[in-house]
Amino acid sequence: MFDSLSERLEGAFKTLKGESKLTELNIAQSVKEIRRALVAADVNYKIAKEFTDTVKDKALGQENVLNAVKPGQLMVKIVNDELVDLMGGTVTDIDIKGKPAVILIAGLQGSGKTTFSGKLAYHLKGNRRKSPLLVACDVYRPAAINQLSVIGEQINVPVYKEMDNQNPVEIALKGIAHAQAHGHDVVIVDTAGRLSIDEKMMEEISNVKEAIQPNETLFVVDAMTGQDAVNTAKSFNDRINYDGVVLTKLDGDTRGGAALSIKYTVGKPIKFVSMGEKMETLDVFHPDRMASRILGMGDIISFVEKAEMQFDEEKAKKLEKKIRKNKFDFNDFLEQIGQIRKMGDLKSLINMIPGMSKMTKNLDIDDSAFNKVEAIIFSMTPQERNHPELMNLSRKKRIAKGCGHSIEEVNLFLKQFDQMRKMMHKMSKMPGMGTGAPTGG
Ligand code: GDP
Repeated sequence: MFDSLSERLEGAFKTLKGESKLTELNIAQSVKEIRRALVAADVNYKIAKEFTDTVKDKALGQENVLNAVKPGQLMVKIVNDELVDLMGGTVTDIDIKGKPAVILIAGLQGSGKTTFSGKLAYHLKGNRRKSPLLVACDVYRPAAINQLSVIGEQINVPVYKEMDNQNPVEIALKGIAHAQAHGHDVVIVDTAGRLSIDEKMMEEISNVKEAIQPNETLFVVDAMTGQDAVNTAKSFNDRINYDGVVLTKLDGDTRGGAALSIKYTVGKPIKFVSMGEKMETLDVFHPDRMASRILGMGDIISFVEKAEMQFDEEKAKKLEKKIRKNKFDFNDFLEQIGQIRKMGDLKSLINMIPGMSKMTKNLDIDDSAFNKVEAIIFSMTPQERNHPELMNLSRKKRIAKGCGHSIEEVNLFLKQFDQMRKMMHKMSKMPGMGTGAPTGG
């Protein structure tokens, strides 16, 4: 996700390499590159300009300060904070109070509405202990109703449908009554979309909204469509005044423009991001974590959360502590690999681990990618696994023999592990970065 934006931003920070402090000149150079990176990621020019003007002002404020932090790191911190801000600052929860709470799903055809409806039901059921009902209101496409039924079966959530009824308002109201009668506490209403915005669709969705008075209206949009996504989001909001945005297909080759521009342009927060066709691939949108991912620093929190399904705070804290003390060892690494295996969808997960996306950039990743690494670690003694710093030539030779890989391969892995460990450690020390340290100031 956002690979080329990340790369370009990294290039922008590199222009500060070797500088001892921020100056008007080096700030200007770096900021120009940042602006180019944003525009190339399909961020609207006006937003990119305003963004970099703020970054520039903040950097100039640091100009004469001799800081323990290097200029490049300082700039990363400034850009990070501004990215978080641009994407809305904090997490915005959905309103699921009410008996039942009603959530209306809107968007163009093909945006991923039906898939998201299923994912949301799965999320509410698994993570928030709700008992959802899905309601199929796409009266124009029987296939869409069937699709929702299939999804419902897959996740074990009932679907309310009326194949012969052409009136979405009626179906939605009856669906809600059905939920009340059967003890469901959340109703998710999937509506019809069209290939492009038209008056009839807008009127229909407004009518449904008016009739069912939802707690929450979510607008679903395909992130791959960049600026178009932003424009569609604006038109819909002008008409139906929704509460939040869902960005789908972030697992694809998305440049980032939509994620970065929607809050600014429409004034509504992104609430969820969808990253695949599997029901598990839905994330609550955290601006800070997204910023950290864009800046190529991974997203260890989301990673741990995913790994644990129900976030095990103890474990995450322990891991964070180890990283901070630079004590992340091979056992921790093995554990992470084991968890990734359990979750599938390796590619999107990889990017959450700091430093990992670079390590694996040119590899064709599949589930067997970690076989070699595991074999190497399994050939280590328990002591070596706990203390990566013990490694020396004779140990490496023994390990290579034990796992059946060459000493060069063992060396390469150890080097990459060391780099990753250092990067994680460095990140954990940066204010406001990584694993939830207070931002200060
Ligand atoms: P709807 O017409 O808005 O209901 O859209 P669908 O839910 O039918 O999705 C359209 C297509 O996009 C389907 O082939 C989905 O499998 C696919 N899709 C939906 N969400 C995602 C996502 O987050 N990532 C990817 N890669 N595909 C998705």
